[in-house]
Amino acid sequence: MQDFGFHRPKDVADAVKLLKKAREGKLLGGGQSLIPVMKLGLAAPSDLVSLAGLRELAGIRIDKAELVIGAGTTHAEVAASAEVRKAIPALAELAGHIGDPQVRNRGTLGGSLAHNDPSADYPAAVLALGATVQTNKRKIAADDFFKGMFQTALARDEVITAVRFPLPEKAAYAKFPHPASRFALVGVMVAKGPAGVRVAVTGAGPAVFRATAMEKALAGRFAAEALASVPVPAAGLTSDPLGSAEYRAHLVGVMARRAVAACS
Ligand SMILES: Cc1cc2nc3c(=O)[nH]c(=O)nc-3n(C[C@H](O)[C@H](O)[C@H](O)COP(=O)(O)OP(=O)(O)OC[C@H]3O[C@@H](n4cnc5c(N)ncnc54)[C@H](O)[C@@H]3O)c2cc1C
Repeated sequence: MQDFGFHRPKDVADAVKLLKKAREGKLLGGGQSLIPVMKLGLAAPSDLVSLAGLRELAGIRIDKAELVIGAGTTHAEVAASAEVRKAIPALAELAGHIGDPQVRNRGTLGGSLAHNDPSADYPAAVLALGATVQTNKRKIAADDFFKGMFQTALARDEVITAVRFPLPEKAAYAKFPHPASRFALVGVMVAKGPAGVRVAVTGAGPAVFRATAMEKALAGRFAAEALASVPVPAAGLTSDPLGSAEYRAHLVGVMARRAVAACS
């Protein structure tokens, strides 16, 4: 690893100032993605601006018909939260199966979304639940946030402060995890809520995406059997040593049916 400056801002505005001042500054959440990336030499920021302990990024609350989770909330806090378990049990369940206890106790919701790993779990939840990503500058709809592999709509000096999840009628997440990392080889989140039926797939392609043919079928009849005749093309899906595109396409179908069956 190379040398870098380390900063502890007092609030989000201070963090943004420090980022702008740095030659190549990077925000640091739980460090569960950024530090491995730096260790591999794939990033060499001149300055790390820590978001740890910032009160503006903390808290879980219900606001009207939305569950609002601060971007600095760890996966373990989401998994253990009574509010999340009551409002969107599928989200707590998803958070509880991210990585291992170390990752869950350090990694944050904001960091996971900003990193947008093609196999990460939270992007599927944010997209399927039709959530809104709140930053220090604006609100970004889930459909406009994820732009491609490790790419998002965030500007260089933009900080995710919270995520607003509309309360679904029912939702569930089914994941086929990599046996070592627990990242999703394929994960499918299904939700029926204010925006209708939404199905989001992670792990299968270069970035999270909506399975619109499945959404249409489920809008007609919300049952796992309704997906039986929906084809999942392998074209455009990821082929790597962990699985071929055809295998992933098969898993998308299986995980989607499991998620629908588990919907509560
Ligand atoms: C062994 C291992 C297993 C894992 N398994 C899984 C898994 O099963 N499922 C899964 O989904 N993930 C998994 N992860 C990734 C994990 O969830 C990370 O915690 C998450 O991807 C990054 O969150 P973080 O807070 O650690 O962010 P960091 O690593 O600190 O930062 C990641 C990126 O986000 C930016 N960033 C951080 N916070 C903000 C913010 N508030 N606003 C804007 N930008 C921000 C940083 O600048 C950086 O570019 C695993 C990681 C490891 C090491």
